[in-house]
Amino acid sequence: MKTLAAALVLFAGSALALPDPRFDGKPDAAAPVVKAKASAAAISEADSRVWVELEAPDKAARQAAVNAGISVEEVKPGTAAGFATPKALARAKAAGLKVRTTVSLRQRFGALDFPEKDAVYHNYKELESDMRSLAARAPDLVSIFSIGKSTLGKDLWAARLTKGAKGSQPSKKPGIVFMGTHHAREHLSTEVPLLLAKHLVDNRAEPEIARLLETRDIYFIPMVNPDGAEYDIEGGKYHMHRKNMSKNADGSTGVDLNRNYAWGWGGGGASPDPGDDTYRGPSAFSEPETKAVKAFVEARPNLKTLISYHTFSELILYPWGGSDAQIPDAKALAAFRAMAGEMAKMTGYTAEQSSDLYVATGDTCDWAYAEKGIFAFTFELTPKSMWDGGFYPGAAAVQRVFQANIRPALYLIDLSDDPLRAAKGASVFASAPASKSQGEATK
Ligand SMILES: [Zn+2]
Repeated sequence: MKTLAAALVLFAGSALALPDPRFDGKPDAAAPVVKAKASAAAISEADSRVWVELEAPDKAARQAAVNAGISVEEVKPGTAAGFATPKALARAKAAGLKVRTTVSLRQRFGALDFPEKDAVYHNYKELESDMRSLAARAPDLVSIFSIGKSTLGKDLWAARLTKGAKGSQPSKKPGIVFMGTHHAREHLSTEVPLLLAKHLVDNRAEPEIARLLETRDIYFIPMVNPDGAEYDIEGGKYHMHRKNMSKNADGSTGVDLNRNYAWGWGGGGASPDPGDDTYRGPSAFSEPETKAVKAFVEARPNLKTLISYHTFSELILYPWGGSDAQIPDAKALAAFRAMAGEMAKMTGYTAEQSSDLYVATGDTCDWAYAEKGIFAFTFELTPKSMWDGGFYPGAAAVQRVFQANIRPALYLIDLSDDPLRAAKGASVFASAPASKSQGEATK
């Protein structure tokens, strides 16, 4: 499949390097394998999950893997790989899937070293403090408020950037919300929205940005899952944790917040087994974090667009994720495709319908579009593959990925007044026609 092939990197020389644009997609026997430096083990002895690679020649096989409770994180021609509990692995085998390799998390990831080298990433306290100083720096433009509490009682901080309205004051200006870190280990997805908010403040004098701050209502919620994100770096080590920190009835920890939204909740690709990484929770919106996002969105009918940042794979995904069907409104679908395609040109990522890889129900964007008509996108940020750093791409990725994501953000903020006009190519932030150099965005 073309879209899959575009998203692939089979091998990269360094565990932390970004994809080499010259890479031709074939394993290179001559390239050196640079192992992550050995350091204190990050994964506990008790963590029995494995990283499993399955034979998966088609979407049906990928779907069977997801339905067995495996969190498919990486798709290559003929295979799919992800995390599995022993039970999920047994279910996958029972479903007839062939296992190529398994490796325990401890073997595979126990050697990652951390925080010092990744100190540029924001933990919860640093995030809160940076958001507060942003508001202090531009009080006429920025306000900070909490949209609710996490499972363990942390405030879920939002920054609002607009002229003439503060905090929870309603606004009639078209609105957009950027969210990060539904999934604990996807720390880069906190950095991008936080840096975007700073970028708008730092560049508020630029005419186009001044116009957006004047005419749009712009929200950032960089850390939807602070409990999980904090746990994932506890003790200065990565724990490869995806879910929130709810205690489940069977004693396991965590619900997958991006399987807990209501649209299609309980369907395919969202595990009923509390131990699985993709556990959907006991009911739709069972979790304080998703409840808070729901209330936030419902209180703001002016929201027209949304980006939920995740890592990794370099994809731009639009609804549906929970169904193979296309969204029924042809005009809206054309707009979704135009926007995703445009933002893909800007970033070099691949645009596709979310369910093209496999169906997964209960995500943010399906709900936001189905219930509220919001043009909602999931961005799977850098890197392309587990072998390029996966969830932990290193400090050097932060600026580079943020820079690549500035223009798509401005483009989508701009289109928030009327997302349907995307299909006509009408945005000052749209990229140059295809005849110009590929991926070069120009005004
Ligand atoms: Zn994610």
